[in-house]
Amino acid sequence: MTTTEPKTTENYVRWLKDEVNGARRLLISVGTKAGTVERVYEVEVTPTGYRLHFLDDANRFKVYSVNTNWCDGWRCDCPDATNRRDREYNCKHVRGLRAALAKRPYPETL
Ligand SMILES: [Zn+2]
Repeated sequence: MTTTEPKTTENYVRWLKDEVNGARRLLISVGTKAGTVERVYEVEVTPTGYRLHFLDDANRFKVYSVNTNWCDGWRCDCPDATNRRDREYNCKHVRGLRAALAKRPYPETL
């Protein structure tokens, strides 16, 4: 008898090789019930935090902003952070960015 186990998934982040223009690219991988979802974001530094540029599943260009100056914590404007109380300051972008920046600050002077 065999059982179908959910795929072993793991959340991780990794900086990719910088773009020619110097922009940082960040891979955020999230384990879900359906498997691992990986997405590459081009990370832009802004006066209030970071902007994550990416292509969604339909290949549309999207941008999420992470505000690091919010009084209660880092706040992203993605649907998860906007619509889900438990993700308000804790969406995958905020978690991913924090983890990645702990490994390698961006800008380097942070
Ligand atoms: Zn987010």
